[in-house]
Amino acid sequence: MSEQLQTAGKCKHTKFLPLNEPPLRRGVVDRTCFHVTPSYYLGWYIPRDEIFDYYPEAGGEMPAFWTKEVMIPWVKDYDSKYKSNERHCYFRPELAYVTGTKEPHLLVFISSNRTQEFIDMSRNEQFIKDAARIAHIKDFFGEVRWIRR
Ligand SMILES: [Zn+2]
Repeated sequence: MSEQLQTAGKCKHTKFLPLNEPPLRRGVVDRTCFHVTPSYYLGWYIPRDEIFDYYPEAGGEMPAFWTKEVMIPWVKDYDSKYKSNERHCYFRPELAYVTGTKEPHLLVFISSNRTQEFIDMSRNEQFIKDAARIAHIKDFFGEVRWIRR
């Protein structure tokens, strides 16, 4: 019990974690703080009001832009390269609109902490580079990082 008290303040489940400090798999109890590990996405965080500034080339039509300029080129050139070995899925840059929070935002994400294989993609530098390029990530977006949902 005293050990639990001593470690109680060491929760690392902050909103953002750096690329090289991945969370555990979601749903797993983290023994350092005794929390169930929440969902994290690996990617970039864009405040909803700033989507146009981040993606002026989308002209305010983000979903259509994404399909045409990101998804289709990715599927054509990279799906075969970044296919999951464990599941019927592919690692791709994707969009998630997060609403119902105080700070609605858009996530451009390329992986998550869904399984260990997904977490391990955060160490695949070529994947991150390819995904960032195809997803039109610019320097000012900042480093890719883990973002809590
Ligand atoms: Zn915690």
